[in-house]
Amino acid sequence: MLRLPVLRHAAPTTLDEAIELLAAEGTMLAAGGTDLVPNLKRRQYPEAKTIVSLRRIPELRGIDLLDDGSLRIGALTTLAELVADDRAAPALREAARAVASPQLRSRGTVGGNLCVDTRCHWLNVPETWRRAAEPCLKAGGDTCWVAPAKRFCWAVSSTDLAPMAIALDATVELAGPEGRRRIPLEELYRNDGMAHLTKAPDEILVALVVPPLGDRRAGYRKLRRRGSIDFPILGVAARLGFDGEVCTDARLVVGAIVSAPLRLPQVEALLEGRPLDAATIRAAAEAAGKAVRPMSNTDLTSRYRKRMVPVFVRRLLDELVGASGATATS
Ligand SMILES: Cc1cc2nc3c(=O)[nH]c(=O)nc-3n(C[C@H](O)[C@H](O)[C@H](O)COP(=O)(O)OP(=O)(O)OC[C@H]3O[C@@H](n4cnc5c(N)ncnc54)[C@H](O)[C@@H]3O)c2cc1C
Repeated sequence: MLRLPVLRHAAPTTLDEAIELLAAEGTMLAAGGTDLVPNLKRRQYPEAKTIVSLRRIPELRGIDLLDDGSLRIGALTTLAELVADDRAAPALREAARAVASPQLRSRGTVGGNLCVDTRCHWLNVPETWRRAAEPCLKAGGDTCWVAPAKRFCWAVSSTDLAPMAIALDATVELAGPEGRRRIPLEELYRNDGMAHLTKAPDEILVALVVPPLGDRRAGYRKLRRRGSIDFPILGVAARLGFDGEVCTDARLVVGAIVSAPLRLPQVEALLEGRPLDAATIRAAAEAAGKAVRPMSNTDLTSRYRKRMVPVFVRRLLDELVGASGATATS
């Protein structure tokens, strides 16, 4: 059985207190702990000394409908709570429902999902297995053992919620020692497996704010080996606006391809300004397949996952064009 390392634990009751605690070296935040705890048990964070639990901070809880119709989802909202809230866009609820399993969704939070660490076949194993080689880049070494020829970390973004929330033009509220700021969710991510979040280490994600969907349509499709629990090895999120038959605005975001959710503006441009007939959808799906190069660092081969991109994009767009509301399936 893997055991947790010996760590200090702090449970602040205010955001300011939590931010102050984060200033100390080796401090890590925990929300539901569903990703953090297994990673700690595998000794993926040898620098960790103190865990700051966010669970006693009331300000991080709750889902509120704002005056402009946006939904403000506190970072500590569990995925199960989001799934159950019928004020949220159905596509966002479906993306949340596609995460892991019921047990993990009842504990795992929206903030934790948006900040969840990138995953790697080499690193996400018990430390005793990794001792066979020097530490990899992400663990402080010099080599990426997934792609030793490259000096680049190939760990893959594995959040289900982020691609869908980006497609919905969501923003996030962050709080840190310099105060509060709000940024588009898309800007929270960078394509770097070792440092996939652009926020400062001592900033806390306070809330996700999702604008109203209006009469647009949105959906999420996920590829994974076992529909009951697995991380995504491909996620496709789309939002489409229409004027009659003509698509007026499109968002297409793919997840679990590289170290950040990847928006595909070149494919969105193929959809905008025209009716979405079968030929247009096929052309967009093929363009999406050509635009991505899945990292070879998850379940199933990158070749297969690349071939699935146009299939999943086409199926989702077909579904949205035929549907009057949002749908998503795993
Ligand atoms: C078997 C298994 C299957 C899984 N399948 C999926 C899946 O299919 N899809 C998926 O998306 N995830 C999956 N996960 C990962 C995880 O369960 C979810 O992403 C969950 O939502 C993480 O939320 P949490 O609150 O437990 O985060 P935690 O584990 O507490 O934290 C995750 C990371 O986010 C940071 N963090 C947490 N909250 C904040 C905050 N408010 N501000 C700043 N940083 C913060 C933590 O420091 C940590 O680095 C799976 C995990 C397991 C063990």
